[in-house]
Amino acid sequence: MMNELSSDSEALMNRIIAKAAWLMHEGRIIRISDKMYYVVGRRNRHIVRVDNEKLSCTCDGFRERNVCSHVIAVSTMIKFGGGENFDEFVRNRVLRELKLLGRQPIR
Ligand SMILES: [Zn+2]
Repeated sequence: MMNELSSDSEALMNRIIAKAAWLMHEGRIIRISDKMYYVVGRRNRHIVRVDNEKLSCTCDGFRERNVCSHVIAVSTMIKFGGGENFDEFVRNRVLRELKLLGRQPIR
């Protein structure tokens, strides 16, 4: 049971990371203030709040899993500016995905 869960969550994490990179690449994350970011998804719009290094999002995915592509994308953006947030590993993965996206032709 634990193993199933962890491989599921790894697949989920990969999808979240790819989506986070896409959101950043497409310029869909708008900084409203230090504590609030507006994320324009493919179908919905979400608000990511930053409160003492803790990020939260208004989407269903975050409510269910406590993590979503929106908070990963915002935390990676904050890291560019020198904040202290998500783990280095996740951030590097997002940045790598972002580079791959950058090499694709413009759609
Ligand atoms: Zn979200």
